[in-house]
Amino acid sequence: MADCLFCKIASGEIPSEIVFQDDQVTVFKDINPAAPVHLLVIPNKHIPSIQEMEEGDVELFGRLFLTAKQVAQQAGIADSGYRLIVNNGPDAHQEVLHVHMHILGGGAMKHPMG
Ligand code: 5GP
Ligand code: ZN
Repeated sequence: MADCLFCKIASGEIPSEIVFQDDQVTVFKDINPAAPVHLLVIPNKHIPSIQEMEEGDVELFGRLFLTAKQVAQQAGIADSGYRLIVNNGPDAHQEVLHVHMHILGGGAMKHPMG
């Protein structure tokens, strides 16, 4: 999609610290890290949010999780643990309308439910 920040990051048009990329998925460092390790896992295909996910995207979303597992291992947080977050829509503060999974780790976090 022409005017999407994360599409431009996936295509390389906007520079970022990409830590993994294949034909379906890109992983890059969050520009404003909220934890010692903060990565974003995105499908290369433009899907604005989970609400636009379709039956044909099921395998792609499986890939997002498998890639998260692999880059967590690569980043050295597989054993210490990490949190996967997908903010969806305004109430959840989804700021970029290209679906993305946050990987947060590298230090103990508070429980998100308090
Ligand atoms: P959201 O609130 O939509 O779930 O998360 C968007 C994330 O994208 C934020 O954590 C923000 O720091 C990150 N972000 C926004 N713009 C850029 C950018 O240009 N480059 C990178 N690497 N991350 C970005
Ligand atoms: Zn996009």
